[in-house]
This record gives sequence, structure tokens and C-alpha cells, in this order.
Amino acid sequence: MGHLRLLLSIAGLAVLSACSGSHYLTTGTDAQNSFALGSHTVADSVMSKETPLAAVRAVTDTSSGFAAGKLIALTFDDGPRPYVLFGSKGDHPAPGLVDILDQNRVKATFFVVGWRLTPKTWGEPRHEENIGITCIDAAEQLTRRGHELEDHTYSHLELRTAEKKNGEQWVMHDVDRGAQAIKAVTGMQPRYVRPPDWIITTDARQDLQQHGYRVLTISAENPMALRDVNSLDYLCAGKNPAGCPKPSLPDAVLKQVEQREKRGVYTHILAFHELSTTAAVMPRLITDLKARGYRFVTLTEYMKLVGSKSGEPLKQQAAETRQTSAAVLSR
Ligand SMILES: [Zn+2]
Repeated sequence: MGHLRLLLSIAGLAVLSACSGSHYLTTGTDAQNSFALGSHTVADSVMSKETPLAAVRAVTDTSSGFAAGKLIALTFDDGPRPYVLFGSKGDHPAPGLVDILDQNRVKATFFVVGWRLTPKTWGEPRHEENIGITCIDAAEQLTRRGHELEDHTYSHLELRTAEKKNGEQWVMHDVDRGAQAIKAVTGMQPRYVRPPDWIITTDARQDLQQHGYRVLTISAENPMALRDVNSLDYLCAGKNPAGCPKPSLPDAVLKQVEQREKRGVYTHILAFHELSTTAAVMPRLITDLKARGYRFVTLTEYMKLVGSKSGEPLKQQAAETRQTSAAVLSR
């Protein structure tokens, strides 16, 4: 029990700082320790052509999402940050995250902050390089290129504290305002909300869900396949990334994936931030996950495939009213 308590408190500490470290300008790259991870897994063996179908059924655990195949929903919070998405041109030039995703044919989901989607906003002037692309332009590009935009609130304030100060209606309004800002750019109503640092009161979460939102969580109350995997990537940002997972961010994420696989879970929502350090490790992480047999999907696609099989009702409305992203900006 003591061990469990220790693990829980470490997880709690990590959660508390999840978004706070992500405001630094980070153009440095994470040293990539590229040792090959074994790509042969139990699931690969199970799905091989020689395996009788009955054997596949025997290990198919619908609650884990395995029936949906091996899936990754890659998600990035706190943007749009044009210099991360389209590359830094400053002292430390870096490739843009969008090009990296395109080159790897990966569609991702971006939990964006509503205030950024106001006209003539380039990001936080003190911390973020202005590359001449506004946050709105960046959001439009993301949608055009087939990525999904979801709601990370308008203010990016920690919602439990904000609720205490301003009341629950304020929280509902902040989420709605974030959604409206996204819809004004993309034409699509976001249905998924990731509260900053995953912190929200039960009442506010339930009210949001009644209003048609689905609130992402790291709570153990939910099936593992529907819980975010906290990559801890924010610990690799800033001038002193001493807390960055060792031996490297991709290895640490792959380790979390392996641990979930050992518990029979083969579908994962990976939570990252729009950071240069994170963009820099994506090519290797995507390659390694593909080698393990994973397919990358948007969050809406993920929830269609996994959500309804995981013991938690899926807001069908969210999935069904959504159009394909590419069609939206043809207006
Ligand atoms: Zn955040």
C-alpha cells in the first residue's frame, strides 16, 4: 500500500505541473538516445496470419480496446503555437511539428487555447517566437491538413481554483467560449475538453458532459483505454530540463505503452504539449510505435473505435455530427 501511495503522490505532483512548464520558449532538442526497442509483441503474435481466429477471440478484450486494433490518438495541448507547428527560424532553427506529422502520415488532435484564436494573436510575445503566422492561420492550416482541434478552455486557467473564485457557471462559460473560438475558425463544434492539468471538480465535469462535452481524464475511475497517458513532456522544456524522463522522452512514453500492453490495453491517448522539444522527438516516437504495430487516428476516430467498447457511453452526437476535417475549410 505504501508503494502505491508513493506512486500516486508522484503522479499527483506530475499532474500539478503538467501545463505550468509549457510556457517556456524551447527551441533546443532533446538528445535522442536511439536504441532499438523490440517491436515484436504479444499482440503481433496473436494477430499473425497463422493464428486461428478462435485464438484471436480468446485474447480479445473489448474493454481494453484491443478489438479496435492497436491505436494511438496523438494529442498536443496549449497551442496553436505557430513557431512549434511550422518551425522555428530563430537561433535554433527547428522543423515544424505539422511537417513531421505529414511526413509520417499521422493525423493528430490539438487541444487549443481559445484566447489564442483571436485576431492578430501570434502567441505569448515574451516567450514565443513570432514567425509571421498568426494562431488563427495556424489553426486553419491544422484543419486543412486533416488534424483535429479540440477544447483546452478559453483562458487556460486551472478550473478548480477558478470555480472556487468565480463559480461553476464561469467554468462552463470558459469551456464554451473556447469551443466557440474553435468553431469560428474550423466550422466544427469541438466535443472533447481537456481541462488544464486535468483539474476540474466532479460537478463541473458532470455538467459539461450533460452539455454534450466529453471531458478527458487521467482518473483511475475510467477504463484505462480512455485515460490519457501523461507523457510528462513539459518536464523536457525550458532552460533546465532536469526532470525530463530518462533515458529519453520517447523511451519513457514507450515504457508507459508497454506497461499498458502488459495489462491488455492496446489503445492509447497520448497527451503531449506543443513544444519544440516534443516536436523534435516525434519522428522517433512515431517510428517506434508504428514498428510495434500501432495506427494513428484522431481522437474522434479513436473514440468511435474504442469509446463505445470501454464501458462508458460515448456521446454519439459528437462523433456523428463531425465532418471530415479537410472538407470544412473549403468554404
Ligand atoms: Zn495546458
